[in-house]
Amino acid sequence: MFSGLFSSSAADAADFAHLEQASVTFCDVVKRYGDRPVLKGVSLSITPGEVVAILGPSGSGKSTLIRLINQLETLTSGEILIDGKPTRQLSRRALRQLRSRVGFVFQQFNLYAHLTARQNITLALEQVHGWSSAQAQTRAGALLSQVGMADKADQYPDTLSGGQQQRVAIARALASSPQIVLFDEPTSALDPEMIGEVLLVMKALAHSGITMIVVTHEMQFAREIADRVVFIDEGQILEVAPPEQFFQHPAHPRARRFLQKVL
Ligand code: ADP
Ligand code: MG
Repeated sequence: MFSGLFSSSAADAADFAHLEQASVTFCDVVKRYGDRPVLKGVSLSITPGEVVAILGPSGSGKSTLIRLINQLETLTSGEILIDGKPTRQLSRRALRQLRSRVGFVFQQFNLYAHLTARQNITLALEQVHGWSSAQAQTRAGALLSQVGMADKADQYPDTLSGGQQQRVAIARALASSPQIVLFDEPTSALDPEMIGEVLLVMKALAHSGITMIVVTHEMQFAREIADRVVFIDEGQILEVAPPEQFFQHPAHPRARRFLQKVL
């Protein structure tokens, strides 16, 4: 479904212009909000092409963990390596490149309400990446087809269902051909009957070789799609395991309690 989508744009050579490996490594990452620690020394290596599901109770630090990767939050101490390269104190230009290689899909879609589905995708391609209008239109059309939204390209977000809006948001996250895509509870704001269509798009993406880090409460999805499950509670990773092992024989007592509640 997504084959051929991930050829690179004409990115100029600099730190994060070419993330061939697309690995993500957390090294003893601490995040505090004021005095309050919300990540208490997280270490984790995610390999290129891996699909990782982040599970854990509300408030455990899942969103913070993935928002740190593309610096929607800044870390307090420790280091995050992308493609083996440190990501602290980047120049503006390097940060822009990093963000174009790391897509982000939010729970609340975050589409621009005053722009059509197509314009939501072309905007960044034209204004951030300097694509011509014609190139951006072509790219947006291809992406919208891939998420099954070609016929809705000229509609505004408020005329689309939640599931359709989230599919547009996924297409937008893929516009700059990222090698890593982060999802923060992408189906949590959706009515139940719309969850399936979004998960279907994500499944196709998972098989495309892209690195995916997905915060989710969709246990069945994590079970089917993830290469590894990361269980986090109170700002600490308590368990990392392949899904079959995690769901059948969770090792940590807190993971067992969590699963008893959600399954
Ligand atoms: P999760 O995504 O697992 O629900 P979060 O990463 O959103 O958890 O939040 C972890 C903790 O950090 C929560 O206690 C939350 O209230 C707190 N927190 C998150 N964002 C902020 C912020 N901007 N300022 C202060 N505290 C925050
Ligand atoms: Mg969250």
